[in-house]
Amino acid sequence: MRIFLKTIFSILVLTLIFINLSCQSLTQENGTDGQDSSSEGEGFSSQDFESETAQDADPDDLVTTSSEIGGETFDVLDDLRLYLDVVSPVDDPFEKISATFGPRIMLGSEGEEQYDFHRGLDFDGTEGDAITAIAEGEIYRAYREGNTSYPNGGNVIIIKHSLAEPIAFHGKIVENVYSIYMHLSEWGESAENYLRSQDPIPVTKGEIIGKMGHSGTASYDHLHFELRLQTTCSLEYQVEHPESSCSDYGFDPHINPVMLFLSSEAGNYDLDLSRSSAESVLITVRASDERLDVNHLEVIITENDSLSANVIVSKDLDYNYRTGFDARSTEALDESASDEINIIPYHFNKTDSTQRIDYEYDLTEVDLSGFPDAVFKVAVYDVFGNLIATQQIDL
Ligand SMILES: [Zn+2]
Repeated sequence: MRIFLKTIFSILVLTLIFINLSCQSLTQENGTDGQDSSSEGEGFSSQDFESETAQDADPDDLVTTSSEIGGETFDVLDDLRLYLDVVSPVDDPFEKISATFGPRIMLGSEGEEQYDFHRGLDFDGTEGDAITAIAEGEIYRAYREGNTSYPNGGNVIIIKHSLAEPIAFHGKIVENVYSIYMHLSEWGESAENYLRSQDPIPVTKGEIIGKMGHSGTASYDHLHFELRLQTTCSLEYQVEHPESSCSDYGFDPHINPVMLFLSSEAGNYDLDLSRSSAESVLITVRASDERLDVNHLEVIITENDSLSANVIVSKDLDYNYRTGFDARSTEALDESASDEINIIPYHFNKTDSTQRIDYEYDLTEVDLSGFPDAVFKVAVYDVFGNLIATQQIDL
């Protein structure tokens, strides 16, 4: 419902914004997204194969079937940070992010570039760097390298945190959040206790839970860090295991962890539109390395630039909600083309000051005959739902 209202609202906002813009011709603004991979000058070749397909069917993970809070359902993902008091899992996190959440370029086993939808953040560092629990909670699982639940994750710790207040995500109540730490080289005391007893072990915010490393399929020392809402089961696992207790969620639980470590006001972004050919529009979004929180792209083609113009095409991509993506399998999620939008991420690593991602919109399937004044409009939103950039171009 909240998403639906937001969509209606944003169409209205977009329309109003573009009316304003049309009085002054085109302007600029901002935005982006980027990716990782890399190696450049850093002495490592970062291929990161942790298939965060991870899975982990847990019988004690009961699905909350109610989707109502106070009689109505509102998705309030942007409120998450209000209800979880956190510290970063590593020191100076924005100096260390080597791969961002969402579409990215990573290097394959032969050093070839590969498109990948990364469902976590990577923090670059040195073996032995302390990794801390982001919030109070309990060690929910710890897996030694070679486990089958996270076959590429190496030594893995999962901490379960209770939210001070529930939020809703995809219409389901979220009371717990899981923080996941991969590729560790050493265990902290709590994790050792868990591995010995297999019982939940309480942890405090900021407690050292382990040390950074490259266990699993990591090719350099880094922490792969994830946040999953209410379930640890990926949508792929749910689809493949319909009998499991987590199969009823129906959503992919990973969200962009960067939203926990940012202020919720909008940052600085760039957004450019250009006609890359007669058949397509190139959308370029850039974010600064201190934000890295572009989350949602909205494209609308209207018959003209007036307030009452009919919408010919409306298309959304949302990383946290996976809108416009097929997350039912890792293979499908890692397709760079999503219907008429081809996603073109650029390399990103910790030495970059901006993160860039392009989207090539294919117009060949859009029937513009009879619409000589058609206008192509784009709006970009951050992880908090802030409208951070708008732009339009005549078709
Ligand atoms: Zn990663």
